[in-house]
Formats: sequence, C-alpha cells, structure tokens
Amino acid sequence: MTGNLSPHAHFSCTNPDCRKTYSLQTVIYSCESCGELLQVTHDIQELKKISGESWKHLFQERWGKPGFPYNSGIWSKREFVLPEQKTENIISSGEGLTHLFQASRWAKDLKIQELYIKQCGISHTGSFKDLGMTVLVSHVNQMRKNGAPIKAVACASTGDTSAALASYAAKAGIPTIVFLPRDKVSTAQLIQPVSNGAKVISLDTDFDGCMKIVQEVAKDPTIYLANSMNSLRIEGQKTISIEIVQQLDWKVPDWIIIPGGNLGNVSALGVGFEMLLELGMIDKLPRIAVAQARNANPLYLSYLNKFEGFAPKIAEKTLASAIQIGNPVSVKKAIRILNKFEGVVEDASEEELSDSAAEGDLYGLYNDPHTGVALAALKKLRSKEIITEKDTVVVISTANGLKFTEFKVKFHNAEIFNTNKKFQNDIFKSSADIKAVYEIINKILK
Ligand SMILES: *Cc1c(COP(=O)(O)O)cnc(C)c1O
Ligand SMILES: [Zn+2]
Repeated sequence: MTGNLSPHAHFSCTNPDCRKTYSLQTVIYSCESCGELLQVTHDIQELKKISGESWKHLFQERWGKPGFPYNSGIWSKREFVLPEQKTENIISSGEGLTHLFQASRWAKDLKIQELYIKQCGISHTGSFKDLGMTVLVSHVNQMRKNGAPIKAVACASTGDTSAALASYAAKAGIPTIVFLPRDKVSTAQLIQPVSNGAKVISLDTDFDGCMKIVQEVAKDPTIYLANSMNSLRIEGQKTISIEIVQQLDWKVPDWIIIPGGNLGNVSALGVGFEMLLELGMIDKLPRIAVAQARNANPLYLSYLNKFEGFAPKIAEKTLASAIQIGNPVSVKKAIRILNKFEGVVEDASEEELSDSAAEGDLYGLYNDPHTGVALAALKKLRSKEIITEKDTVVVISTANGLKFTEFKVKFHNAEIFNTNKKFQNDIFKSSADIKAVYEIINKILK
C-alpha cells in the first residue's frame, strides 16, 4: 500500500521568522542562523497521498505483528517517524505498543467518565525514553554505515535517557558516554548504563550542569548528542499520541496529563496529535496538562503568568528525580503546544506526588514518582473542576515503578514527611504458628 509513496523528512528551524532547513544527515542541534532549536518536518503532502482511513487500516494491520521491525510501536509507524531509515540499520528492542491500563474503579471514585494510564514505562529499559532512543540510535547507525565520522554518542541524563542510550548503543556496537548528576538518580538507573558498558561520568552538579558539559563536548561533530535538544529524539516519542488514539479505537480523549522536565515530551505529544489531525485520522485535539514537581516547576510559574516571560530556576531536590530540571531546553516548543491545545500546567509537592503514586498502586498500578506527579495533577485538576465528570482522561506513565524501589520502600515505612497514612501498608510479622496467624487474620477481617 505504501509502495508508491516516498515519504521524506528534514530538519527545520522552529523560529517562525527563520524556518531554515537542513538535511537529517547533518550533525546539527540548533539553527546555524538564529540559534533556535530545530524540529523534524515531514513531507505531509506526500503522506496525504494515502487517506487517513487507509493509514488507520495499515497501522491496525501492523499492530503487534510478529517479527522485525513491525514488532515495535515505532517502526510499525515508520513513515511518520523516520521514513528514510533502512530496515537493516534499525536498532529496536520492541519499544512501544504499551498497555493502556483502564482504571475504571478509580475513575468512578474520582467521578470522571473514564481514566486510562498509558504504561509507557513498561519498556526495554523501563522508561518511555526507549521510544526516542530507538530512532536516534538507528539513525546514527545508518550514518555510520554510510561512512559518517561519528565515534561515539553522548548524553546528559536524569537517569532514564542514559539507560536507554547505553542499551540501544550497546546493541548497535556504538561507544557511549553518559553524564549523570551525582547522587541524583536511583540505584537502578545508575547501574543500567554501567551494565551496558557505557562510559559513565558522574559530575558533581545537577542535570542542568551536566547538560552544559555535554553540549560543550558535542561541539566536536564526531560525538553525537543524544539529548532531546536533538529533535530526532522527539520523533519517536511522538508515537505515544498515535498509540493512545489507536487503542481508543481512534477516539480522542478529552485530556492527556504528562509529567514534564526538559519538556521535549510534551512537545512531541502535541506534534503527534497535530500530525494525526492534518492527515484526517482524528477530528479534534485533546487538552494537555503538564505536571511538574513543585521543587522544579519553572513552567508552572510561567503558566501562572500566562506564559508572559519564562525564567529558569535552580531545581531543588525532588523524589521525581527524572524531572529535576530548572532550565528546560524545549520550553518554547512546549509553550507553543500548550497554547494550541488549551493546555494547563499543574504542580505537585513531594507529599502529593508520593500519595498519588501510592493511591494509584491501590488500584493495581505500580507507579514511579513521575507518574505520581501526573496523578497528583489529575486529582488537583479534578478538584478544581477543570477536569469535569464528563471527561475521559489519559495519564502518561513515564517509567517503571521497579526502577524506584527506594521511593516505594520509604513511602510504606512512613519516611516521606507528611504523607497520608491511609495509603501506607504495613507488613505483619508473626511466628509460624497457626494460632498467631489466626489472630492476625481475625483482626484484618474484623
Ligand atoms: C524524561 C522523563 C520525563 C520528562 O520528559 P521531558 O521530555 O524531559 O519533559 C518524565 N518522566 C520520566 C520518568 C522521564 O525519564
Ligand atoms: Zn533559524
């Protein structure tokens, strides 16, 4: 069906007064003329040669099809993501196609129409960064095969980007350097790139400090930058939008809530929906809410000021360590999307994010702290009646709770200040004696 199609994509400058374009083969992260970030622009006219209905059929037919490369959520939508990628150079670990968890019992308690959690963290390296990383590493792999002088890939990370990069690059056999802020990632996140053989450089700074260093290092064009400042990363993240509507039988939910740090992902989410609308695959846009940790909430502060002006801040320590970012690279892209999608921004304190993550677990989830931030935003927006009883809401879960065992242990040991006892679950200790056990059971079932 796509046989006669020749889809194409290139980089273009996001500055509306510039719009300079570059080939995807160029090693470039921001515009040479004006310095703004780039975006990947697709030849929509070419994609429009196939009707929206036919694209839906094609994606439907490929969903979950066994075998490489359609057994990936990204590569089963390859025409929308990286159309000129050769199959033989794809590096995929089965990313995407994640479950849309229907939390009807919670929706009922919240008095909303329906609640879904998009389980993007149930993925190869345990976070949704895999979606972007398969694209970036496949692209670098292809450039290297074509003779481009790229010696290594590098990133700064709050823990999940580095885990994803290290794994995908190891699969491809590409040397990897990652910069991590010391003592600001979980144990699991730290040991992931170590295990995958990446060169791990732990810096005595925060994420924003690591970002500065890696940008300096990537001025050498033989070291390819894998952060979302490189807009190729965003292309993969965009498929979250497509998967959600596909899983809802091509119906658009009223709200999507996503935790935000560097803000590349909310931008990608919006671009995904814009593309679906342009191609006639959906007929409306959802509203988008970005959820930030209060200790790292520069976008929230700007939102309170109707986005007039944006001031970076020093991010303070938060349990939601992957979004402990004070100077988000993609802030302009994110604000454009929020303006277009009737967006809102909400923030959550440490107690709120911890309680909401734990409350969600009692409905069968297993939440990481970032998803906790998004779930706290859901509760707050509901209590403000911004989200109403008629609304269907999708919350993007960005990481696997198994990466954050310390967080969950602390919560149930009541070691997180002021959290709600109601969600804490104690372990009963007993001798292995049936009488003692019955005593406990009688107490529990009383
Ligand atoms: C990267 C990340 C985010 C935030 O994405 P941004 O694009 O930086 O806003 C949220 N949650 C987790 C678990 C992440 O790893
Ligand atoms: Zn420009």
